[in-house]
Amino acid sequence: MRTVDRVVKAPSDLGLELIGVPEGADLRLDLRLESVSEGVLVSGTVDVPVTGECGRCLRPISDSVVVNIQELYAYAHSTTDETTDEDEIGRLQGDLIDLEPAVRDAVVLELPTNPVCRADCPGLCPECGGLLDDLPADHHHEQVDPRWAALSQLNNEGD
Ligand SMILES: [Zn+2]
Ligand SMILES: [Zn+2]
Repeated sequence: MRTVDRVVKAPSDLGLELIGVPEGADLRLDLRLESVSEGVLVSGTVDVPVTGECGRCLRPISDSVVVNIQELYAYAHSTTDETTDEDEIGRLQGDLIDLEPAVRDAVVLELPTNPVCRADCPGLCPECGGLLDDLPADHHHEQVDPRWAALSQLNNEGD
């Protein structure tokens, strides 16, 4: 068994549309490599920084997530190698393991499709687009439905 404790640079396009890992950012790998009969079992965590935009208030988000990885990399010509598809299970390439697909899958699974800066972010005022966080609690706009406006006009005339 070997442990791998190292920092690698993030590849491009790691993430989703609204949130992801900046290219070249530090990915902190903390992995265990275990030799099993069919190959090498890689397990552990990857700590990745993420940046994105809040889906409600559009402010930038900067956070980090820790994803769990567990992946078997089969030896060439092992039973696993011969009986599974290329995209089902990873393969050892000589002495090398390509961790990128596993890291990519784990990160993408972990990221929210609708990222928010915080769970109770109130977002923007639908009327003026102002940040509700920055506006007074009683911020509102006089909204008079044109039909009611016409009615109140009638009422006034009736007086
Ligand atoms: Zn927000
Ligand atoms: Zn407003």
